[in-house]
Amino acid sequence: MQIAVVTLFPEMFAAVSESGITARAFRNGLVRLTCWNPRDFTDDRHRTVDDKPFGGGPGMLMKTAPLQAAINAAREALDASVGGRGDRGSRESGESGAASRARRVIYLSPQGRRLDQRGVCELAELDELILVCGRYQGIDERVLESEIDEEWSIGDFVISGGELAAMVMLDAITRQQPGALGSEECAELDSLANGLLHCPQYTRPQVIDRRSVPDVLLSGDHEQIRLWRLKHSLGATWRKRPDLLEGLELGSEQQALLQEYIEEFETAPGDQCG
Ligand code: SAM
Repeated sequence: MQIAVVTLFPEMFAAVSESGITARAFRNGLVRLTCWNPRDFTDDRHRTVDDKPFGGGPGMLMKTAPLQAAINAAREALDASVGGRGDRGSRESGESGAASRARRVIYLSPQGRRLDQRGVCELAELDELILVCGRYQGIDERVLESEIDEEWSIGDFVISGGELAAMVMLDAITRQQPGALGSEECAELDSLANGLLHCPQYTRPQVIDRRSVPDVLLSGDHEQIRLWRLKHSLGATWRKRPDLLEGLELGSEQQALLQEYIEEFETAPGDQCG
């Protein structure tokens, strides 16, 4: 997957390109990250990247010409990397080169679709992403209309720039790339991968302050461990994020395990380890 980021602060992306799972995925060529700085597309002495909003008021907007030029440069570089022209959105079967590659240009914005695991999985299916990071009070509406396919938000709050939001998206998408996680990690076991939260997890020592790891996890009985994990995954979701259960159709095994969990929780709320 190729991800091009349009940002006034490319140095911030060292956080994902130099550390951890994302860095390894970039090194192994699973994800290719490039940054495009609108400041490099200015033609004035001060390399100006902001401009006043029409109508007055506080704050600035991103200057349109350098922003558009940076987005176009990112697009052209992606086109060139596979030879030919790219499309804007859908994957068309039977074509070769850039035209058959699914690309989306995304503006990170508090006004966008809220990012969740389902959205991450949808985006991870694409071949190419251009992530446009806003700064100041954001971008001109006409640039949004002409250059951007979709707006995505990381939550109902406002941060100072799109970079952190882009990195959140980038990290989550990278985890979904086949081979990005080692055998010891697995995206399928992550919270929300199946709509549920992860079950409680334990490592050494076996006993901390007289609280022991649940016996079943030490038993070596794989079926019992599977059932315990599923039950406690359902239970954690029921206790912490009941809204998630509303959107799920539980199978009969899951329903029975959740019922068992709820009954145990209601008789002994503090004793959910066993
Ligand atoms: N004035 C804008 C508004 O109220 O919609 C907010 C501008 S914000 C200070 C600067 C930039 O941060 C935005 O252009 C956007 O790229 C990014 N941003 C802020 N909050 C975000 C969020 N929740 N999700 C994604 N990006 C966000």
